[in-house]
Amino acid sequence: MPALVDLRSDTLTSPTRGMRHAMAAAEVGDDVYGEDPTVNALEDEVAARFGKPAALFVPTGTMGNQLCLRLVVPPADELLCDADAHIVTYEGGGAAQHGGIQTRTIVAARGLLEPAVLAEQIRAEGFGTVPTRAVAVEQTHNRGGGAVYPLSTLRALREITAGAGVALHCDGARIWNASIATGVALSAYAECFDTLSVCLSKGLGAPVGSLVVGSQEHIATARVLRRRLGGGMRQAGVLAAAGRYALEHHVERLADDHARGRRLAERIAEAAPSVVDPALVETNIVPLDLGKARYDGPTLAALAKADGVLLSVVGPRRARLVTYLGVDDAAVDRAAEVVARALGADAVAT
Ligand SMILES: *Cc1c(COP(=O)(O)O)cnc(C)c1O
Repeated sequence: MPALVDLRSDTLTSPTRGMRHAMAAAEVGDDVYGEDPTVNALEDEVAARFGKPAALFVPTGTMGNQLCLRLVVPPADELLCDADAHIVTYEGGGAAQHGGIQTRTIVAARGLLEPAVLAEQIRAEGFGTVPTRAVAVEQTHNRGGGAVYPLSTLRALREITAGAGVALHCDGARIWNASIATGVALSAYAECFDTLSVCLSKGLGAPVGSLVVGSQEHIATARVLRRRLGGGMRQAGVLAAAGRYALEHHVERLADDHARGRRLAERIAEAAPSVVDPALVETNIVPLDLGKARYDGPTLAALAKADGVLLSVVGPRRARLVTYLGVDDAAVDRAAEVVARALGADAVAT
């Protein structure tokens, strides 16, 4: 039996040999004292890449988002985001529990907010309404199938939010993928945002770690809030070393994951055109729309599993495949064959 091809998520990356060596060799100190040189170096490097004054190393992207939201939305005030956002789907209601934040969501195609629609939804203070204090976007959009916000859209959102005195937060867990897919510099994206959370543990392949990126004031406050949530880590340089290694070795190669995502989409579309549009696969996530397919998500997942391929079910008739570091061409070809075979032959005509 050939090895399992696991395309459920790019969180499944495992630290490479080189990364493990870097971790073992890391210089460390107590980061709660601000004395871990490797953490400090990582924070400086990431801040510089995004063209922002400061950054803070945090254990997870969820904590990164939660800290950022608390920086920009006072309790009982409002956050606007799209209805499929990670912040409202996968963070356990943290914005409500930790920040007392009221969230209002907007349904958006592929998770991408449209500037004109957003402009209509922002609520000012007064007349008994809950004032909007921040808007959150996701770059790339996870449940939106790895969709990338064009820079022009982000600039338009920035103009609208700034004009309304509202903060713009970016859940940039996969912002690296957006930059590699489009050639837009991370700093050009970051210029649009007041706060940004980025992950090292998705496609970049670090075992653990995310960073909050922003102004000196925001990062100083985030450091206090991180401690309050129990996220003050000690000799975290061992983890930061993995992140520094990833920045040096695993950013450019995201292009390979994107090429494999596209190839997977093309093969599946050949067999079942209603299931995926390869033109919409911009990065490493291949969303499968099973609305007109022969099988629903759970059935497809079970069939694929029986053939040694794992995929994620993200809705009753939605599934996804994700490419990442360690998934090679042969694995992608096998996954494509298995999924195409399951959906192709007798797929219900569109
Ligand atoms: C993975 C992810 C996060 C962070 O997830 P953690 O598991 O907490 O690291 C945040 N936002 C998006 C869009 C993600 O895909």
